[in-house]
Amino acid sequence: MEKDYRSLPSVEKLLSDRRLETAIQRYSRETVTDVVRARLDEARRRIAQGEPAPSTAELIAEAEAGAASLCEPSLREVINATGVLIHTNLGRAPLSKAALEAIRRTAQGYSNLEFDLASGERGSRHVHVERLLRRLTGAEAGLAVNNNAAAVMLALNAMARDREVIVSRGEAVEIGGGFRIPDILRQSGARLVEVGTTNRTYLADYEAAVTEETAAFLKVHPSNFRIEGFTHEASLGELAASAAKHRTLALHDLGSGCLLETADFGLAHEPTAQESIAAGADLVFFSGDKLLGGPQCGIIVGKAGHVRTVAAHPLVRALRLDKMTLAALEATLLHYVTGEATREIPVWRMIAAALPELNRRAKRWAKAVGEAATVTDASSTVGGGSLPGELLPSRALAIRGTGQMLETTARRLRQGARPVLARIEHDTLLLDPRTVAPADDDAVIDALRAALGAAGSGN
Ligand SMILES: *Cc1c(COP(=O)(O)O)cnc(C)c1O
Repeated sequence: MEKDYRSLPSVEKLLSDRRLETAIQRYSRETVTDVVRARLDEARRRIAQGEPAPSTAELIAEAEAGAASLCEPSLREVINATGVLIHTNLGRAPLSKAALEAIRRTAQGYSNLEFDLASGERGSRHVHVERLLRRLTGAEAGLAVNNNAAAVMLALNAMARDREVIVSRGEAVEIGGGFRIPDILRQSGARLVEVGTTNRTYLADYEAAVTEETAAFLKVHPSNFRIEGFTHEASLGELAASAAKHRTLALHDLGSGCLLETADFGLAHEPTAQESIAAGADLVFFSGDKLLGGPQCGIIVGKAGHVRTVAAHPLVRALRLDKMTLAALEATLLHYVTGEATREIPVWRMIAAALPELNRRAKRWAKAVGEAATVTDASSTVGGGSLPGELLPSRALAIRGTGQMLETTARRLRQGARPVLARIEHDTLLLDPRTVAPADDDAVIDALRAALGAAGSGN
């Protein structure tokens, strides 16, 4: 035991070893010193438990690896071959070229973020996107904040604090990632009044619950599930008309925030922000990074007086967008204004991708990989709390095998130099080209070859 402790080199001795020179140059002396200390502490703990002392070569290799992993970015780019377009765990919507360019322009220097160039005076950061939100949704006013959860919470706090908000039992839902309508209501200081039943709620149920304390009817788009069969819900139009009669508000949490007609792409109709405004909603809330295809943010549009009230709330300062997000959001909205959304916004390009083209790409991947892979029919999904159960027919590279073998291949794909995420369905590993940028096709092929440990048959 004693002897083993003494066989450990000192921190100084390790740091002066020539084999650590490159690591010190690359990661700094301080960082390598910290890592070396930690490795030596760990070695002493092991020796205390009766394990042998590591060799100097082992300690050096561990220190190099430790410093490298510390200095490598933790947030990394991945290739999404899952076929789920708006994948919350993978960062939701990829941005358009113009949005990326807008971020670069705005971030690398100064901007008129809160400066009015016409008057030379202080301006508001909110004006840049409000004009576009008004134009695209038909609303009188608009405001963008950190995300949709923040938008709903902020608006409820501004409009309904210490008062009652009436919600259908079928819509007091959990969206995922801890966003539960009842919790958000409670946190905002509003009181939830549930009406109707899980499957059927009528306008009369809302109206019977109105009291002097009622601040709003809140309608929530059930974005990640579908209730079928014996169902009824009050339409937003009915609720808005009734809200006006009862001097209360009609609020609509739309979730995805679609501006285009999804039915044009063979999907079910996803309600749009324009429709909610036309139906008479006082305030409508939606995400920026779901079907809108922009950066993470939450958008509030609606009647001017109400948007002003929300915008004047002190929490807006805490939930405001940074300049990069504003730049990306403005560029994304401009694609809709100029009618090029389906061409320029990646999420819409993926939705619009033609089957023969997807087939051609899947075939090219499979051919490059060799016998292990075939091409099969598959289904992409929109995801991100939009269009639950709706499938886009696709073609995918398929690798058949046992569960164990597929898990191993999926792990290797995940842990490669450029991580690729696939999905396993039944006894097949599937890679769907719909969610992969065509520019990444060669990277997918490289990753597949490396994961399968085979050279493939050339491409
Ligand atoms: C996704 C979603 C939210 C949360 O939006 P974030 O932008 O993720 O905060 C809220 N409500 C509905 C209905 C949603 O679908």
